[in-house]
Amino acid sequence: MESYKHYDAIVIGAGPAGLTAGIYLSRARLKTLIINEGTTGGQMILTHEIANYPGVESISGYQLANIMKKQATAFGCEIRSNISIQNIELNKTLKTITLSDGNLYTADSVILTPGGRSRTLGVPGEDIFKGRGISYCATCDGDFFTNKEIIVVGGGNSALEEAVSLTKYASKVTIVHQFDHFQAFEHAVAEASANSRIQFIMESTITAFHGNESLEYVDIRNLKTGRTNRFKTDGVFIFIGYIPNTEFLKSKVELNKWEEIVVKNDMSTNLEGVYAAGDSIAKRFRQVTTAVGDGTVAALAATNYLHELKAKHKHFITV
Ligand SMILES: Cc1cc2nc3c(=O)[nH]c(=O)nc-3n(C[C@H](O)[C@H](O)[C@H](O)COP(=O)(O)OP(=O)(O)OC[C@H]3O[C@@H](n4cnc5c(N)ncnc54)[C@H](O)[C@@H]3O)c2cc1C
Repeated sequence: MESYKHYDAIVIGAGPAGLTAGIYLSRARLKTLIINEGTTGGQMILTHEIANYPGVESISGYQLANIMKKQATAFGCEIRSNISIQNIELNKTLKTITLSDGNLYTADSVILTPGGRSRTLGVPGEDIFKGRGISYCATCDGDFFTNKEIIVVGGGNSALEEAVSLTKYASKVTIVHQFDHFQAFEHAVAEASANSRIQFIMESTITAFHGNESLEYVDIRNLKTGRTNRFKTDGVFIFIGYIPNTEFLKSKVELNKWEEIVVKNDMSTNLEGVYAAGDSIAKRFRQVTTAVGDGTVAALAATNYLHELKAKHKHFITV
C-alpha cells in the first residue's frame, strides 16, 4: 500500500469538467490529483466527432481528451484513472478518499465531476450501433442526419423537444413511444403534433437494432397486439432519461430527487470546500462546452477557498 498523500485539491472524474478543473488548479500551483473510475476523457472518448467545440472545427473525442489530459499533466496535475473509490468523506475541513487498492488520499478541497450516462433501452444491437446510427444527443449528432429518415424514442419533454429540433436536419422523424399518451408539457406535444415532418408510433417499443457497418433496421413491437415489424431507418435518437453517476455520493453531499448534485452559481455544494461541475450537477444542457465552463468556475472558486483557508491555517497548503 502506498503511503497516505495530501493534496490541495482532488478532482473526482477525468471528463472535460474534471480535466478543465485540473488544468486551472495545477496552473494556479495547487497540488492536484484527479481520480477517475474509467478511461481518461469521460464521455468524450465515446464521441466519434466533436464539431461544436469552439476554436476546433472538427476533432475526435479521443483526441480532444488527450489534448486536455496533456495540458493538465503539463501543469503538474496528477491523474489516476481506471480505479474506483471505496469511501469518501467530505463533511470535515480535511476531506478523505480511500481507493479500492487501499490507498488513502486527503485534500483541503474536492471537486466532484463524475458525469453521467443516458438511460439505454437495453435491447439487442444497441451497444453495437451506439455512435453508428444510435445517438443520445440531438445537439451533438443531429447535423449528421441531414435529409435522412430517423426515429426518436421517448415521450417526455426531452424526446418531443429534441424531435422538433431534429426536423431542422432530418426529412422525417418518427416518434416511437410506449404509452398511448405523452408525459410532456402540453405545448411540447402541440408543437410536435403540428410539425408535418413528425409522425408517431404509439404504444410501441424498439426490441432490436440491425445493420452491418451502421444501423439499417429496427424491430418495433406493438405493445397492444404483440406484433413485431421491421422498419428501415437511417438513425435512432433515444431520449428516455439521464442517470448521473452519483450513486457513491448518496448521503455524502446534497442531491436532488433526480440524484443530481445541487450547486450554487459558483459551483459550490452544501459542504464547505466541496464543488461540483459538469453533467452530474442539476442543470439542463449537457455538453463538452458546458462541462468545461462549469469546471473552470468550480476550479476558480476552489482556488479562492484554498487561499482563504491558507490565510487562516498556513500549514494546510502543500505547494
Ligand atoms: C455518444 C456521445 C456523444 C456526444 N457528443 C457530444 C458532442 O459532439 N459535443 C458535445 O459538446 N457534447 C457531446 N456529448 C456530451 C459530452 O460528452 C458530455 O456533456 C461531457 O463529456 C460531460 O463531461 P463531464 O466531465 O461532466 O462528465 P463525463 O464526460 O461523463 O466524465 C466523467 C468521468 O468521471 C468518471 N467517474 C464516474 N464516476 C466516478 C467515480 N465514482 N469515481 C471516479 N470517477 C468517476 C467517469 O469514468 C468519467 O471518466 C456526447 C456524449 C455522448 C455520450
